[in-house]
Amino acid sequence: MGTAILLKDVTLRDSRKDVLIERGRISKIGPAGESAAWQLAGDLDMMDCSGMVAIPGFINMHTHSPMALMRGIGEDMHFHAWLDKIWKVEEHLDHEFVYWATKVACLEMIRTGTTTFNDQYWFFDSSVQAAREMGMRIATGYDVIDKGSREEAERQKEQCIGKSEAFLHRNDPGHIYELAFHAIYSVSEEMIVWTSELAEKYDVNLHIHLCETRKEVEDCKAAHGGLTPVEYLDRLGVLNPRLLAAHTLWLSPHDIELLAAHGVHCIHNINSNTKLASGYRFLYNEMRDAGINLCLGTDGCASSNNLDLLEAMKTAAIFQKAWRDDPSALPLGELMDMATVNGAKALRFDAGRLEESAVADLLLIDTDNTFFLSPGPFLANLVYSAHSDCIDSVICDGRFLMRHREIAGEREILAEARKVLAKIA
Ligand SMILES: [Zn+2]
Repeated sequence: MGTAILLKDVTLRDSRKDVLIERGRISKIGPAGESAAWQLAGDLDMMDCSGMVAIPGFINMHTHSPMALMRGIGEDMHFHAWLDKIWKVEEHLDHEFVYWATKVACLEMIRTGTTTFNDQYWFFDSSVQAAREMGMRIATGYDVIDKGSREEAERQKEQCIGKSEAFLHRNDPGHIYELAFHAIYSVSEEMIVWTSELAEKYDVNLHIHLCETRKEVEDCKAAHGGLTPVEYLDRLGVLNPRLLAAHTLWLSPHDIELLAAHGVHCIHNINSNTKLASGYRFLYNEMRDAGINLCLGTDGCASSNNLDLLEAMKTAAIFQKAWRDDPSALPLGELMDMATVNGAKALRFDAGRLEESAVADLLLIDTDNTFFLSPGPFLANLVYSAHSDCIDSVICDGRFLMRHREIAGEREILAEARKVLAKIA
């Protein structure tokens, strides 16, 4: 697994440490200076980290990475008009577009501290290739969206099984295979159940959009005898701990009980929800108190319009405080968990904590700037004061993805992305 990395004199939970990373894991943590006495054999990449703070890499739990090249095509539009426009543009996309667009998304996510992302898009094989070449960990897989067409449903069933079995056999630990269905309004009842049963058979997660807009809830009630989208999915028997539900913005108390009872993971996407005016009253306290695992995402760049999870953290916290009229709402420690360890839990891998034996996904924060001068809590300075350009270096799976703000291949990716955009224009 390549060269070992020694981070010398890095601040970890308020104390200065030496941290050794080997074979993708944090293998040893000791007081700063102690590594001089460690018996270290083989290639060693040493980095002086004085003035830097290590935190876990961020996990962006809901995005559509290829939309990194679709910014600005539906500005100031209501959700359903916006979605129709997006779907029209998407008819013209291909593997080449998705590959380079995902590379652009990876550049942006690495620069802003994300090491793992949960993606949902067409041509996902090209996203997997792009993300893995960039060294990022990606969760994605076949996305079902039949829009009520029987023909399309049959075609997708066959394609979904073929692709799923090919990817499940690859056993790449950096690609967490999952299934997806877009939403209850774009997928037939038969295909919702079929996809859920397949996810159960393969024991993989199922990534969906749920209760994103008030219209989605009203339309569902009208179509299904007064059932909310969550009650409807419960009736179909598809609520379970494999379900990763993005948005969950318009929920009744009974919906929250159902989501909690079935162990569904919920993903908050505040920048997308506010920008599309879908809503902002995410029921954080109610869902947390019910025991739901709550994660954070950016959504795609066509709605949010960037992939900066640190920015999403700040917006999520200040919106909770504002609409609840309570400055203690969504405290920093819980916010950090939403952006890190809760995502790892939903994706069922061992990251989000910086301890010996944990997966070595971490960020080195440069504190040599105005934002960190005050003696206030580090997390407050990071989330409320700083911007993601304070992220100096990013390590994923024990390898540097960015080192002192340098990302390998960045110029070439931007040049190729411009060519792809010129072609589809
Ligand atoms: Zn989405």
